Amino acid sequence: MKYAADIAIFGGGVAGLWLLTQLRRIGYSVLLIETKRLGEGQTGAAQGILHGGMKYALDGLFSDAAQALTAMPARWRQALDGNGNEDTPDLSGVTIVAHQQLLWSITSTLPTRLLQQVAKRLLHGAMQPLDRADYPAPFDRHPPAALFRLHEQVIDPHSLVARLAALNPGRILTGQPVTALQRDAQGVTFQRAGEHYRVRRLLLAAGAGNRDLLAALQEQQPTMQLRPLQMVLLSGGALPPLFGHCLGATNLPRLTVTSHLTSSGERLWYLGGELAEQGVGRSPDTQIRIAKALLHELLPGVADLPGLRWRTLPMARAEASNPGAIRPNGVKLYDAGTILTVWPTKLVLAPALGDAVSACLRQQPFQPEIAEQPLAAAAHPPQLAPPPWERLLHG
Ligand SMILES: Cc1cc2nc3c(=O)[nH]c(=O)nc-3n(C[C@H](O)[C@H](O)[C@H](O)COP(=O)(O)OP(=O)(O)OC[C@H]3O[C@@H](n4cnc5c(N)ncnc54)[C@H](O)[C@@H]3O)c2cc1C
Repeated sequence: MKYAADIAIFGGGVAGLWLLTQLRRIGYSVLLIETKRLGEGQTGAAQGILHGGMKYALDGLFSDAAQALTAMPARWRQALDGNGNEDTPDLSGVTIVAHQQLLWSITSTLPTRLLQQVAKRLLHGAMQPLDRADYPAPFDRHPPAALFRLHEQVIDPHSLVARLAALNPGRILTGQPVTALQRDAQGVTFQRAGEHYRVRRLLLAAGAGNRDLLAALQEQQPTMQLRPLQMVLLSGGALPPLFGHCLGATNLPRLTVTSHLTSSGERLWYLGGELAEQGVGRSPDTQIRIAKALLHELLPGVADLPGLRWRTLPMARAEASNPGAIRPNGVKLYDAGTILTVWPTKLVLAPALGDAVSACLRQQPFQPEIAEQPLAAAAHPPQLAPPPWERLLHG
């Protein structure tokens, strides 16, 4: 069988799925191909924090990066409230696991730039200090030097992937790679499971997989970078729900904690921040030992809860190459005519990525031409990857 479409997207993470939804809404015929399962890459492993600029301020990337993020929480709120439009999918049903986060410090001295950011956000109501009487667990027993509430939501990335997939029935093919990938002046052809496809544009949204796809297409540009992490997971015991960042002596949070429920109903803490950044190359045992010591210092009492199980998860963030291998300031899009390559840089930047790709296609100009054709291979629902901890805890 031969199929034609305006656009094929390779990659079933947040970038590919968001773009599939948005580009179909503005009239293109689009199909998405994921070699493994949807959410198998970075998206499924993300902490789900919808950063509104504080994160970049904490990371020390002030100006442009923080600015790119400022508009994002409102866009996500609109989507999560079910008010979709051409630019924003209707994300009703996506699980919001926290409506706010906590920021705490165990010392009363913070770097000046960080203090300025905190003060600015306090002034604009994006943050509030908590009264001592309102300190939630685990801070009620061991109060830190300062504790603030930060009005930034956290979502469950798995439910986001499921929702975006559900918005596109019959347009997603999972579980097999493409072969015979070739480009010409009019578009791109490839095969998958014995079927032939011809598309006018190919959108590479395969995260770390973009490197091999670009090589297969003999494209020298763009180049990409991987920034690894070693996350820590702890589950079991009577862990309280916690979403927050511990401010440290530098602009990078010493620890970022999100909480998730596993399929067996246990609460799990997912630990990132400086711990995960500096944990690269450590053995799992060493990383866990360091994580325990850090929890003793930053959240006394938690690491001693009975019945805790500890795991580590090495992951890498895939981004467009950037001088000094630092994180790019915003979304990255490379337009090579029939091939577009994207990296969102952060999950929260998916709306900005949608805007950038729509604007790029309008500018080319590239009009919808091919009507959507049913895909026999998409008759089965696409495969979704479970959250990474399910494999680690039960696999
Ligand atoms: C541990 C961790 C925590 C994070 N936490 C946050 C957070 O809290 N908030 C935030 O905003 N951002 C966060 N991020 C960043 C965010 O997860 C990523 O920026 C975002 O998910 C990238 O999405 P993507 O769709 O580009 O890539 P991915 O999610 O990696 O998706 C790419 C997909 O392409 C598939 N693929 C690969 N090769 C091919 C091919 N040849 N053909 C077809 N498909 C292919 C892969 O299997 C994969 O499913 C985090 C990242 C990590 C690693």
